[in-house]
Amino acid sequence: MSQTELAHRFILDTFTQTGCSPSLLDIQRRFELAAEEDALALLEELEGRGLIHRTAGDRRVTHAYPFSNLPTSHRVRISGGPEVFAMCAIDALGIPFMLKRDAAISSACEQCGSRISVEIAKQTVIASSPAGMVVWVGKVSAGCVPANDLCPDLNFFCAAGDLDAWRMAREEPDGTILTLEQAVVSARRIFEDLLNTSEFHLPTPGGGA
Ligand SMILES: [Zn+2]
Repeated sequence: MSQTELAHRFILDTFTQTGCSPSLLDIQRRFELAAEEDALALLEELEGRGLIHRTAGDRRVTHAYPFSNLPTSHRVRISGGPEVFAMCAIDALGIPFMLKRDAAISSACEQCGSRISVEIAKQTVIASSPAGMVVWVGKVSAGCVPANDLCPDLNFFCAAGDLDAWRMAREEPDGTILTLEQAVVSARRIFEDLLNTSEFHLPTPGGGA
């Protein structure tokens, strides 16, 4: 593994162990770099590869898919670990598959705010509520930055009817409706090999394709 890939792994490991991203100083120390600027150069390379994202002015890692250092409505309690924020609904569902660990996901319906919960154990959904929940995946455009352009538009809804109401209020934007099962298939495909390959694939419409 290259140093860049090891740095990516270190960032994901830090989120997994602490719930937060490492600081530049953490990265500098871990890789015995001469200066913080060297750590910054590693982050710039990872950002260029689309693996992490920093909000303008944020010298820390703001996002390392699937994790967010900023609070979101998608919280994931890792079994035997901390609670972390996920970037979006698919990222939240992908965390247990990436880590090969059990996890409990808590989120909220984007339309009505009611509670959404999904429990994954041994790489299987063992409980979920409410029964009719769906996941909305906004349209993916080429060259978009997922953290800004896609993740905010990738949410849970308690029922198809609430998604319809939400879309109607927004003049029916393009996108794909996934059942929980389809969303899990999609999340698994995106994230289950991320720690091995350091390659991040944008979700494709259709989920089960
Ligand atoms: Zn709702």
